[in-house]
Amino acid sequence: MSKVAPVTIVNVGYRSTNYWVVSAGVSRLLVDIGWPGSLGTMRANLKRMGVPLREIRYALATHYHIDHAGLAEELKREGVPLLVLDVQVDAIPIMQTWTKPADNYVAITGGGNVIISFEQSRQLLSQIGIAGEILHTPGHTDHCVSLLLDDGSVFTGDLPPEAHAFNNPVALATWRRLRERGASRVYPGHGPTRSIYETPDEQPPA
Ligand SMILES: [Zn+2]
Repeated sequence: MSKVAPVTIVNVGYRSTNYWVVSAGVSRLLVDIGWPGSLGTMRANLKRMGVPLREIRYALATHYHIDHAGLAEELKREGVPLLVLDVQVDAIPIMQTWTKPADNYVAITGGGNVIISFEQSRQLLSQIGIAGEILHTPGHTDHCVSLLLDDGSVFTGDLPPEAHAFNNPVALATWRRLRERGASRVYPGHGPTRSIYETPDEQPPA
């Protein structure tokens, strides 16, 4: 028997982007963090899905593009610490260079950031009741990470699907590694969830 409660997963996304809330009871992790200036929409969607903002223990961006991390600083001001993998630190200031004044982007500061290594991720997640780890999963950017739960759920951000990644050997290697690590159900940053085996040439193991 596992000590940890089974996790539940809901999508609080909007504007064609998925934002996943992974919950162990009332202990919750937000995976991908909203467009800049969209705190009102995020609040409304959290409420609609029955997720109190104060129960979100950390927010994790799969990568620092504005549709995935644009709301990070605003959420920190609401009391949600930003969980950053060490490989992501340098990408944070670069994100701002892609924003326009009309985006109302609030720049991410160092305060309230919890910076960890991949090796530390399992223990941090276990502290909030979630069995899994965070893996380095390059292929869309070099600083992309994925959350892999022990039940096989994997949150892959913008990692391009294998069927569209024939010319992207880095992404293909990442998918191979995710399967080796037991990933089965893909929760992408855009579009519906799917089986990791849903590609033309792949079948689940017998
Ligand atoms: Zn992206």
